[in-house]
Amino acid sequence: MITEEDKNELRAKLERAKKDISAEIENLSAHDGVQDFGSDVDHGDEEADEAEEFGNQLGIVQALKERLNDVEHALAKFEKGTYGVCENCGMEIDKELLAAAPESRLCRACKAASHPA
Ligand SMILES: [Zn+2]
Repeated sequence: MITEEDKNELRAKLERAKKDISAEIENLSAHDGVQDFGSDVDHGDEEADEAEEFGNQLGIVQALKERLNDVEHALAKFEKGTYGVCENCGMEIDKELLAAAPESRLCRACKAASHPA
């Protein structure tokens, strides 16, 4: 059972995460290397490495944006009063799961079913 106190704590956690993730996206997006990668490299393996690095960075930003989406989505659910309820089956999400990932949309069972390990 999730108490109001738990929810307040999780909400504060999400607000903090939102700030942190936004700042991180800004940091990564503003990084010089993103725009002009490979410009001072002639050719060959080095360029491939840089392209890979560039790709990784894009992947990180993309993942952060998705996480930010989830966090904002979770915060919106506080307004609706549906926070902590599985979006698939309507069951209450484990407190432990929310503590580990406050932005969780699904309960443990539905999460396992939608993302098989
Ligand atoms: Zn569920």
